[in-house]
Amino acid sequence: MSVKIGIGIDVHAFEAGKVLVLGGIEINGYPGLKGHSDGDVVVHSIIDALLGAANLGDIGEWFGEKDPKYESIDSKELLREVVNKIVALGFKISQVDVAVLCEVPKVSEHRTDIVRTIEEIVGAGTISIKGSSPEGLGSLGRNEGVMSYAVALLEV
Ligand SMILES: [Zn+2]
Repeated sequence: MSVKIGIGIDVHAFEAGKVLVLGGIEINGYPGLKGHSDGDVVVHSIIDALLGAANLGDIGEWFGEKDPKYESIDSKELLREVVNKIVALGFKISQVDVAVLCEVPKVSEHRTDIVRTIEEIVGAGTISIKGSSPEGLGSLGRNEGVMSYAVALLEV
């Protein structure tokens, strides 16, 4: 057995009038995230980590930002497509660890829902997620958006 590791990083700005989708769930009380899709920065970072570990390129190559097919799409569908491809290639998704950097929302309050939602696609016992505060520093500290980091470990 060998293991493959991948990292994914994504950032999206807040956009008023859009629903906030983070880690596959809708969270009320905050602006949504700008983007061609639903703007789910957490799922996008997971996709890039998985694609990196499997050496399959990146999310932009898979799901073109100008392609009308992906406009406002539920990013979970994109994740499902990537997971199916990775599993079909013979990889086992061993673990995905996610760190989210933002002032709001507090990820810890939604951790259980996010983990349950993502694990339905990626596999039971594969996901951990944590939030971290930017402590008022920079654009994230000014509450202008959300950044997400993910690391994925595959076995083959
Ligand atoms: Zn994104």
